[in-house]
Amino acid sequence: MGERWALGVDLGGTKLEVARVDGDGRIRDSLRMATDVDGGPAAVEADMARMSRALWEKADSPPEGIGVGVPGQIDGKLGLVRFLPNLGWNNVPLREDLERLLSIPAVVTNDVRAIAWGEHLHGAGRGIDDLVCLYVGTGIGGGIVSGGRLLEGCTTTAGELGHITIDLNGPPCTCGNRGCLEALAGGWAIARQARDMVSNDPLAGERILALAGGSMDGISAATVAKAAASGDHLSLSLLENVSRALIAGCVSLVNAFNPCRLILGGGVIDGVPDLIDKVRIGVKRSALPASTANLEVVPGFLGANAGPIGAACLALGLSPRQPR
Ligand SMILES: [Zn+2]
Repeated sequence: MGERWALGVDLGGTKLEVARVDGDGRIRDSLRMATDVDGGPAAVEADMARMSRALWEKADSPPEGIGVGVPGQIDGKLGLVRFLPNLGWNNVPLREDLERLLSIPAVVTNDVRAIAWGEHLHGAGRGIDDLVCLYVGTGIGGGIVSGGRLLEGCTTTAGELGHITIDLNGPPCTCGNRGCLEALAGGWAIARQARDMVSNDPLAGERILALAGGSMDGISAATVAKAAASGDHLSLSLLENVSRALIAGCVSLVNAFNPCRLILGGGVIDGVPDLIDKVRIGVKRSALPASTANLEVVPGFLGANAGPIGAACLALGLSPRQPR
């Protein structure tokens, strides 16, 4: 009888990772490949199954299950991927397919919900039963642990924190609404604002455009972060607006959920680490004093491993309430 372990999968728009995670939340082995977006769900599921078997062969006991975090909307009760914008998936029965391919129990969740659970059990939220995890990458996702439970909501979509409204008259969001946190502070929104600012004022935008290789299409949130780090005024003023939007969003989250810890992560936070201090100060200033009495604002601890670890831990059934 070998040790307990499960497979944890991080399914991204560019990269697919499958990890062997032990009962203590440690990654013992992992495999990575480019996501076969063109091949569609069947090809990606076959890749997942092949990588899973390769990890399984090297272990001395079978996995207890497989957990998958996906960057989109899921129905956790049905194990269904409702919509994955980056991969163009609609209504894919991922849990059923994986259970058929591998003959082990499968759990499907949103990627940032998996991250929140991983950070809660083994990372920046260890021992903390009330936390909010906000990931600011190309989009903005979230996960909430309250009373030691991962909040799922009525239809298992609780945690769509990128789509809380910050500005009633703000710019359009990918969700069809306006002025969402993501439409103001997500990576795609930062790139869009930067392109607008550069085309409106090419002289002030020289630095950003140069860092993007002279191409408007090359402008990304990373370009803006790089330009800001070198003191570029346009980038600094854009990021000031981003930080105000993030603070406004976090004030609402802290007032709504009263977490002990607010964990921030994702590409935009990694690229502009000052945002953590700004959010800490801004939330302390503007949220209800009673809500922030014990609040700590911290970066994620597990980095890119949080997703596979959290997904595997859901599969290991360490969640007080099984998500299926
Ligand atoms: Zn939205």
